[in-house]
Amino acid sequence: MRRFSSRGGALLPTEYTNIKPFLPSLPPPPVGTDGSPVGPEVLSALFPSGMIQHEITMEPRVPISDQVRDAYKVYRPSPLIRAVELERVLDTPAHIYYKYEGTNPAGSHKSNTALPQAYFAAKDGISRITTETGAGQWGSALSQACNRFGLDLDVFMVRASYLQKPLRKTFINMHGGKVYASPSKLTESGGSFLEKDPEHPGSLGIAISEAVEVVLAEKRSCYSLGSVSDAVCLHQSIIGQESILQMEEMGEYPTEIIGCVGGGSNFAGIAFPFIEQVLTGNAEIKFTAVEPTVCPTLTEGKLKYDFGDASGLTPKYMMYTLGAGFVPPPIHAGGLRYHGMAPLVSHLVKLGMIDPIAYTQEKVLEAGKKFTLIEGILPAPESTHAIAAAIDSAIDARRSGEEKIILFNLSGHGYLDLAAYEND
Ligand SMILES: *Cc1c(COP(=O)(O)O)cnc(C)c1O
Repeated sequence: MRRFSSRGGALLPTEYTNIKPFLPSLPPPPVGTDGSPVGPEVLSALFPSGMIQHEITMEPRVPISDQVRDAYKVYRPSPLIRAVELERVLDTPAHIYYKYEGTNPAGSHKSNTALPQAYFAAKDGISRITTETGAGQWGSALSQACNRFGLDLDVFMVRASYLQKPLRKTFINMHGGKVYASPSKLTESGGSFLEKDPEHPGSLGIAISEAVEVVLAEKRSCYSLGSVSDAVCLHQSIIGQESILQMEEMGEYPTEIIGCVGGGSNFAGIAFPFIEQVLTGNAEIKFTAVEPTVCPTLTEGKLKYDFGDASGLTPKYMMYTLGAGFVPPPIHAGGLRYHGMAPLVSHLVKLGMIDPIAYTQEKVLEAGKKFTLIEGILPAPESTHAIAAAIDSAIDARRSGEEKIILFNLSGHGYLDLAAYEND
């Protein structure tokens, strides 16, 4: 029986769920350029000790520290809502539920991992975090978390988003963080891309290279990753854990779980605790991961060892990838513009437990507009991928008469991304 404490609501978990001990096999470990598994010394040049521990642990339950739980209490448990109006408009026998991760001040699920990462850095006596951000959600979440735990923050922001979303920069600045458009002249990796193209739109891979380069050159700062890693997927598991109890309260259990995928973390968050139940023989669920057609990592990428960044500074991970040099066009869902995919999500796709699909920007923004009018919440452009898939599945249920119970993750709100909806 999982333990929950009454502090901050009966639903707020006291432990994270680690999917790894339940998997029939593990993804191959990260390797260095020579092909041998990377040791802890490589990771400790970049990450605080608590994060490394969370990255490698094989314990099925990992305690959440009191300081982090206190911070979670500001916005967790997050609501799980039945989209009654949407069901009515779609005239579907399906029940549609969504877990809404946009209720925290930064507006997305990213705070779930930003808080423990800032806490672990502060605990190790580190004074500054350097990171990248795509659309700006990660930088926003981490700026609040760093502010809470007394750390400085430097953010390399993908240039396309930096220009599209100036309010994100204001948000990060207001919480004490500094923001640089990436590629920048501040690092060698950034400079080399600017040389080729002074108007380079940037990519998450390049911004990661810049952040990692800065951290490797400095002793008292550490790096922080907003998605992809096993530790981040671990932190996000609180989404699915809360959902299990909330669905129970509603007297229902999902037959299908849907999430959008950029690096894979919000999808992992809602899916992994349910995947544990499937793997232990207690459930049967269809899992759908939705990505943009212009960054089709799971539907068209290859499963192989590849760098996490664009300049080859990180270890290589066994993951679905479009190639570390892939630069996706600047779509509105900036948070989904990543060339790779979390090794754990990649592995589950390979095992056939997750079905990937790809949708066009036109289709998902249409679904986002519909959702805004019907449910009254304006979704992040990333989250509209999950909404579009949920709508398609519900329409499909109308045709087949199947009694589906659909649960999707509404990973964030779009109130700081209104420009995405402006010209369409
Ligand atoms: C960052 C982000 C994503 C994509 O990242 P994942 O790691 O795949 O979850 C999706 N939705 C929102 C709102 C985001 O901020």
